[in-house]
Amino acid sequence: MTTREQRIADFIAPFRVEPGSKVNLAKDFEPDFKGTIQSKKRGRKLLVQGTELLSEYQSRLYAQHTHGVLVVLQALDAAGKDGTIRHVMTGVNPQGVSVNSFKVPSSEELDHDYLWRYGQRLPARGEIGIFNRSHYEEVLVVRVHPELLDRQKLPRGTRKGLWKRRYHEINAWERTLSDNGFKIVKLFLNLSQEEQRIRFLRRIDLRDHNWKFSAADIREREYWDAYQRAFSQMLSRTSTEWAPWYVIPADRKWYARIAAAAVLANTLIELDPRYPKVSKEAREALQEIKVTLEKQAPEGAAPDPFVAE
Ligand code: AMP
Ligand code: MG
Repeated sequence: MTTREQRIADFIAPFRVEPGSKVNLAKDFEPDFKGTIQSKKRGRKLLVQGTELLSEYQSRLYAQHTHGVLVVLQALDAAGKDGTIRHVMTGVNPQGVSVNSFKVPSSEELDHDYLWRYGQRLPARGEIGIFNRSHYEEVLVVRVHPELLDRQKLPRGTRKGLWKRRYHEINAWERTLSDNGFKIVKLFLNLSQEEQRIRFLRRIDLRDHNWKFSAADIREREYWDAYQRAFSQMLSRTSTEWAPWYVIPADRKWYARIAAAAVLANTLIELDPRYPKVSKEAREALQEIKVTLEKQAPEGAAPDPFVAE
């Protein structure tokens, strides 16, 4: 491992949820953690370096066309999901990226099993796909508001042990994806209740931010404790060796972006995509084509001024 790879691995280690560990969000992770990166100014510089690294790796991922990467973003409102996507993916070729935001399911979606709509939007090989909210809503918002299950048209007798089963089914689904070349990067943006209050106030005060605020956000805020419990359970039950969770400290937007970029970079480094190798024959064929193309240079082109007679 080169030192840069090791440094990235060390940097993200505190965010990783060890598979099998029991998480208590309030006790185990600090939303305002900033480690050794003390200033926003230094943070900005790091993010630029991080996005350059991502751009290079994405280019290789795209060329190799073997693996896909799915980035799952979960968080409460105002935790910075949109901003993270915008800043972390800056500089990455849009041709190789897809972003999908999941809202309240449509009636067509409710006519299928709960994982169906997420399966429809998975990235292809060579792509980085981002899920802005994801299949995890099915054990988060739906768990906090179990009445939402009534709309899911589940057969009788399937409610018993439902959450445990869903954790298991999600793990199995992700395992299938992972075994077939699709790496899953799961980021939970961990925001404090006080910072959410401040950001909501800002959305109300700044006119251009009003559209981001809805009355529903304030209603959800009242379920804060229930959400923290649901997040803690989700992290405990679905952080696996093949798709571990990372808890990203989100009270400082600039720090969250660096941390998210670092986790994604780490995954790409582990995948180590390479540009396809060109065979000796193919290279020789290219040389022949080169000669032909060079012969097609327009006649009478001005001679190179510095070439000796
Ligand atoms: P936003 O991401 O702020 O635009 O809001 C999307 C809303 O859709 C959030 O309130 C989510 O909780 C909700 N949502 C997403 N997925 C589901 C789901 N599977 N069932 C119910 N509500 C969902
Ligand atoms: Mg919202």
